[in-house]
Amino acid sequence: MVLDAVARMNIALNDAKIFVKYRGFERFASNQFDTISYSSGTNTYSQMKTWAASNGYKHPNAINVYMPKWAQNSPNGGFSGIATPLGAVFAIRFEAVTTPVMLHELGHVLGLPHTFVGYNSSNCEHVTRDPNDPNYNADTAGDRIIDTPAQDTMWNDVEPNSCEYTGNGSDCENVLYVITPEDTKNFMGYGGLRLCGDRFTVGQKIRMRERLLTSSTMANAETDIASLFEPYKGEYYLAGPYNPTIHTPLFQPGFNYRFTECSGNYPQPAEFYDISYPVNWNNVLLGINQDETNYGNIKHPNHSAIYIEEVDEVGNDSDYYDYPRKCYDNNNKAAGSGIVTKFNDGVLNANVTVMPQDSTAINNPQLIQNLQPGLYKIDKVYDNGAIDQTIILKDNN
Ligand SMILES: [Zn+2]
Repeated sequence: MVLDAVARMNIALNDAKIFVKYRGFERFASNQFDTISYSSGTNTYSQMKTWAASNGYKHPNAINVYMPKWAQNSPNGGFSGIATPLGAVFAIRFEAVTTPVMLHELGHVLGLPHTFVGYNSSNCEHVTRDPNDPNYNADTAGDRIIDTPAQDTMWNDVEPNSCEYTGNGSDCENVLYVITPEDTKNFMGYGGLRLCGDRFTVGQKIRMRERLLTSSTMANAETDIASLFEPYKGEYYLAGPYNPTIHTPLFQPGFNYRFTECSGNYPQPAEFYDISYPVNWNNVLLGINQDETNYGNIKHPNHSAIYIEEVDEVGNDSDYYDYPRKCYDNNNKAAGSGIVTKFNDGVLNANVTVMPQDSTAINNPQLIQNLQPGLYKIDKVYDNGAIDQTIILKDNN
C-alpha cells in the first residue's frame, strides 16, 4: 500500500519535476494514538506529532506520514487526513492511503491551500477569469492560483460517475460558479476528491515548486536525484554464494524504467556520477512502466544501467541525466542454466537442434571444446533474467 501511494505521488508530480523517494515503512505500537482526533482530547494530531518526535518515530530527513487506524473530530465524525503545511509531516487514515486523499495531504505539505479557501468570506475569489474585468481577483483572493476556479466546498454537489458539478453555488457577489469536471477532479478541492480526484493544475505545480525552493522547514526533507537510483530494498550481488532473496535490488514503482545494457566490469554498480562506460541503447534488458503493479519485477538486472524517463530532463542542462546510471556489470556470477542451439545446416535458419543445459553443464569451461564442429548459439541464462548470447562457429580444431 505504501509503495502504491509513493507511485501515485510520483505519477501526479513528476511532470512538475518533483520526485518522491520511498525511504521505508515501519510499524509502532501506541494505544494512545490508535485513533487521533482533530483538535480535542488527549490524542490530537498535534500531540501525536510531539509523541512521535520524542519517541524516535520522526525521521529528520524525510516527510513523515503517520497512519492511525482511525481519525475523528467528534464522537460521531471522522476525517481522512490532516497535514502540517510545509511541516514535512502529515497523518492519513489507514483506509485513505491509496486514495486521492493521500495526494491532497501531500499537496498541503508542499504548500497548497484548498481550492475553495475563503469562499464564504466577503473577500472571496470572484468567478471572472478576465484580467481586464474590474471584478477580477483570482491572483489575490482564494488560493491565489489563477487556473483553479472560484468554488465552494462542493460537498454532495459532484456526480461521482461523471464528476460533473451539480450544485448552483455562487461567489460572494452572487455570480454563479463555472466549474467543469476537470475542476472537480482537483486534489485540493473537496467535492469530487474521494472518487474523482486525479490532478493538480499547472498553477498548483508551480506553487509547490516555489514553496519547496523557499521553505526552510522542508529543506531537511529534500535530497538529491541520485537517491532515486538507490534500491529501497535488497543488495547487489558481489561474489560468492548467490541468494536471490538477498541479492535482488528492488526499485520503487511509479517511474518508466529502462534497464539498459552496459559494460565495463562494475561488480558493484558504478558511482552515480561516473558515466564513462558504454551502453547499448538498443538492448533494454528490462523495461518497466510507471503503472507496474508487480513490484517484485522492478529490479536491476546484471549487465545493465538504470535509465528513468521522468528524470532525464532535470536540471539546467537538459542532457545532464539523459544517460543510464549505475552500470552493474558483474561477471562473478555463474549462469543458472542455458541452452545450446545447433544450426544443423551450418547457417542461421530454423533447422536447429536445441539442447537445454543445467547450471553445471552451461558453466563447464570445456563446453565449447566438447562441441562437434558446426554453427551454434549459446544462451547463458542468469537467475535475474539476463541472457548472455554468443554465436560460435566451431571448426575442426
Ligand atoms: Zn485539506
